[in-house]
Amino acid sequence: MELISGKIISEIKRIEIKEKIFKIKQMTGKVPGLATILVGKNVASQMYIKSKIRACETAGIESFHYNLDEDSSEKEVINLIKNLNNDAKIDGILLQLPLPENKNVRECIGAISPLKDVDGLHPFNVGSLSLSKNWSEIIEKNILVSCTPLGIIHLLHKSNIKIEGKTVVVIGRSNLVGKPLSMLLLASDATVVVAHSRTENLREICKRADILVVAVGKPNFINKDFIKNGATVIDVGINRTIEGLCGDVDFDSVKSMDIKVTPVPGGVGPMTISMLLENSLKAFKNRKN
Ligand code: NAP
Repeated sequence: MELISGKIISEIKRIEIKEKIFKIKQMTGKVPGLATILVGKNVASQMYIKSKIRACETAGIESFHYNLDEDSSEKEVINLIKNLNNDAKIDGILLQLPLPENKNVRECIGAISPLKDVDGLHPFNVGSLSLSKNWSEIIEKNILVSCTPLGIIHLLHKSNIKIEGKTVVVIGRSNLVGKPLSMLLLASDATVVVAHSRTENLREICKRADILVVAVGKPNFINKDFIKNGATVIDVGINRTIEGLCGDVDFDSVKSMDIKVTPVPGGVGPMTISMLLENSLKAFKNRKN
């Protein structure tokens, strides 16, 4: 088993972004501004937001954090978003998910200006992604794409793992990970199979994958019986167990296989944050243009 270090690849990306922002600041005196919104007190979300803010500040992105009470109304969340849409200092708006249950995620995300939608979840950006014919078009048009799927493609590119023509099985069809990733993979000329909780013969389907992406959220969900030798396995899952943080792949079961795999922690997670920085810079440039 060979590990794909998202930690190292994401660190290189962050240095690149920091240098670009430094140059922009020297030339224009301006830096991108990112607003983060957390509604409620979800402990995992608080941790994610903290690391996102820290990464922004290290890269030279100015961050503005807004904490709303758990019981604040959907209207209050949307009003804050509308104010941020009109705030010239803010280039990107990140609404940390999940939201407390009484709020409609689609309504709240839909209120974010597509130009400032650094999580790439607004219907305009999702539509632009699905209409893109190929990867170059996504890059050239500076489309804001969901950070985790974007990070996965970046990880594959930087690890020299060929996507074109390969059979990629994605387990999970969420709006955050599975669906946008399947669009990115199609644009990268992969043959894509998206599996979910109703999929029959999951093991046989996964065994055909050259690249297997697991975004389920269940510890030890995938073991060696689902993976063919020579495959690349991208473990998106983040599960908190009494033994600590783990992904969806049973590491002990696969470690003697001839495969490449992303660890948890240190795989997809750091890439997601680097792509948030990338998207914030992209949003800054798009707005200036
Ligand atoms: P989600 O919305 O809960 O989606 C989970 C997906 O798994 C669903 O599509 C579900 O199918 C599918 N699934 C559940 N049980 C299954 C089964 N037995 N067989 C096949 N498919 C099954 O979760 P998400 O937001 O996509 O996140 C997935 C995992 O990735 C979570 O652990 C999350 O914490 C992690 N994550 C990590 C990052 C990162 O940066 N590393 C970012 C985002 C998410 P149905 O659609 O049929 O229900």
